[in-house]
Amino acid sequence: MTTEHDFITEPARQVEVIHRTDVLVVGSGPGGLAAALAAARAGVEVTLVERFGCFGGNITTVGVEGFAWYRHEKTVEANGIGREFEERAKDMGAAVPESQSLSYELDSEGFKLVADRLVEEAGIHPMLHRQFVAPIMEGDTIVGIIVESKAGREAILAKRVIDATGDADVAHRAGAATVKTPLEHMQAASVMFHLAGVDKRAFMEGIKRDPQTYSDWSTGEWQIETSGKEDKMFSPFLAKPFAQAIKDGIIPKHLNTIAGTWGAAHDTGELTYMNLVHLAGCDGTDPDSMTTFEIEGRKQAMLAIEALRRYTPGCEGARLRNFGMTIGIRDTRKIDAVYNITESDVRNEGRFEDTIGIYPEFIDGYGILILPTTGRYMHIPYRSMLPKGVRNLLVAGRAIGGDRVSHAATRNMACCAVAGQGAGVAAALSVKSGCEFDRVDIASVQSELERQGVRIY
Ligand SMILES: Cc1cc2nc3c(=O)[nH]c(=O)nc-3n(C[C@H](O)[C@H](O)[C@H](O)COP(=O)(O)OP(=O)(O)OC[C@H]3O[C@@H](n4cnc5c(N)ncnc54)[C@H](O)[C@@H]3O)c2cc1C
Repeated sequence: MTTEHDFITEPARQVEVIHRTDVLVVGSGPGGLAAALAAARAGVEVTLVERFGCFGGNITTVGVEGFAWYRHEKTVEANGIGREFEERAKDMGAAVPESQSLSYELDSEGFKLVADRLVEEAGIHPMLHRQFVAPIMEGDTIVGIIVESKAGREAILAKRVIDATGDADVAHRAGAATVKTPLEHMQAASVMFHLAGVDKRAFMEGIKRDPQTYSDWSTGEWQIETSGKEDKMFSPFLAKPFAQAIKDGIIPKHLNTIAGTWGAAHDTGELTYMNLVHLAGCDGTDPDSMTTFEIEGRKQAMLAIEALRRYTPGCEGARLRNFGMTIGIRDTRKIDAVYNITESDVRNEGRFEDTIGIYPEFIDGYGILILPTTGRYMHIPYRSMLPKGVRNLLVAGRAIGGDRVSHAATRNMACCAVAGQGAGVAAALSVKSGCEFDRVDIASVQSELERQGVRIY
């Protein structure tokens, strides 16, 4: 019988090396998938490791479908692989027009096929169902990873590693400096769901009769800072049905956090990307916390559905179609990078010589919503992906270095794809030139990114 303070010693053991590669990408969300594609297209051998059975990260496993809901007429962006995700999804029937923007909402199921196709076409070696558990280190240099799966513990060796786990798992375990937002200030986690059985015509008529705006986000639990220009713009926001359900005793009073956005209403009767359940205090690096909040989140989702059925036109016959495969985590570890992006950079069009792509002025999180309606944008610096203290490792996606408010910009999926593509190209050129990541020729990285269609200035 052990208590939580007891330890056991694992015996040392031999682990079989099952694979060798030039560039190893761990995690296949918008950051990792873009990194793997970019590296492969820059001409090196690439392996993509993912713990679940599909690529796509939050898009496919959580059901986060709003890839570019910030896009308006004057929005400028990096294009590149992020834009390709949307275009390929459209071509493959896995996207529908998004409700509040000039963008397409990705279909979380259909995007699994899109990602498979992209990975296959690029000749990437796919390794699903393997979870990274430990780095293989030679001093302060990462030379591979240990994975665990149904096959047990296995080793994969690589010339360069990109950590795209979202949580900086690889960087953290390799000993790089990381920071975690204190639990009380972390963005809430969400259990996401999709509905079936909605009468689209009646639902859309109801929305038109009582359209909501971004200023409506400042109701109930939240106060949202905008730049003012967002306030009168349409938002697919739902709060009234849940307030009514609280009044009528259907939802307990303390759950005045149930509110949020719907993504798309489909002709087939589905209402997708239901972002209504917000779970404060969930630590996405603590499985006990995630267990509690998965179960709590599902309960809250069912209360939300009951309220929609009672108080929202068109939803009378709605039923749960599916939950995301896993709870959605917004905020955990970030690396303390060679350069950490600042609030000022994201609010004031940061410019950097080592830019690897641009990102529009879109800030969404920690009580701030600023939409890129004016053409303003920032550069994403290469150094924000370069961890301190570990060689041969880059970090892409939401774990890149930056302060709290910068994360509200860089965590967004299209920005994760910008960072991923930059990391992938840098890794490929680092392998080809034999230069370490801190010596890689930025001008060559930038010209390969431009060749791949990325706007970097
Ligand atoms: C509920 C919710 C709603 C959101 N809404 C939006 C939105 O509308 N628009 C927007 O742009 N962004 C949104 N975001 C943010 C966005 O989804 C994430 O910040 C983004 O997906 C991060 O991309 P990533 O590639 O860094 O990581 P992820 O998308 O999290 O992908 C990481 C991948 O790594 C894998 N992985 C993790 N650990 C391991 C391991 N140890 N071994 C192997 N594989 C591993 C995971 O399974 C996953 O596939 C939302 C997030 C949430 C949770």
